[in-house]
Amino acid sequence: MHELPVTQSIIRIAKEEAEKHKVNKVLEIRIAVGELTGLMPNCIQHYFDIASRGTVVEGAKLIINKVPVAVRCNNCNSESEIDKSKGYGCPVCGHSDIKIIRGNEFLIQSLEVE
Ligand SMILES: [Zn+2]
Repeated sequence: MHELPVTQSIIRIAKEEAEKHKVNKVLEIRIAVGELTGLMPNCIQHYFDIASRGTVVEGAKLIINKVPVAVRCNNCNSESEIDKSKGYGCPVCGHSDIKIIRGNEFLIQSLEVE
């Protein structure tokens, strides 16, 4: 995934919200980025600074929460967070029949406005 279109969509959503609530300034935007998206928080911040210029979201603080990868095991039914570098097996029983339940998301969690 590329950071620029993602950043543009953050700005678009934040602007829409600001208009809806008739606010002049967005102070803070919290977003959740799953580890599996491969998005780099630094790049998002960089693009955000450029693309937000002259808009109601200019100067807003971007708070990026990384969401670790979590899986549910179809064998033992446990849910666990996994370390990507160790591979995609169940950390509890070692089974490979697992389903990814977190780590793919990209969403705006909250906006703080003036
Ligand atoms: Zn298991």
